[in-house]
Amino acid sequence: MPDTPCPACKGAGLTEHEEHSVETDQDGNQVPVVRRWTGACTTCHGSGLG
Ligand SMILES: [Zn+2]
Repeated sequence: MPDTPCPACKGAGLTEHEEHSVETDQDGNQVPVVRRWTGACTTCHGSGLG
């Protein structure tokens, strides 16, 4: 089994994730919120291998 790097994260095992949601602020207004974080690649599950 060849050790080919995962094409999604290029072997790093980590990728940028982005989540969009809508939250209600203290005035009752709905505001769009985007959260970004770096976490385990969903393609290779963090192994870095494709
Ligand atoms: Zn990956």
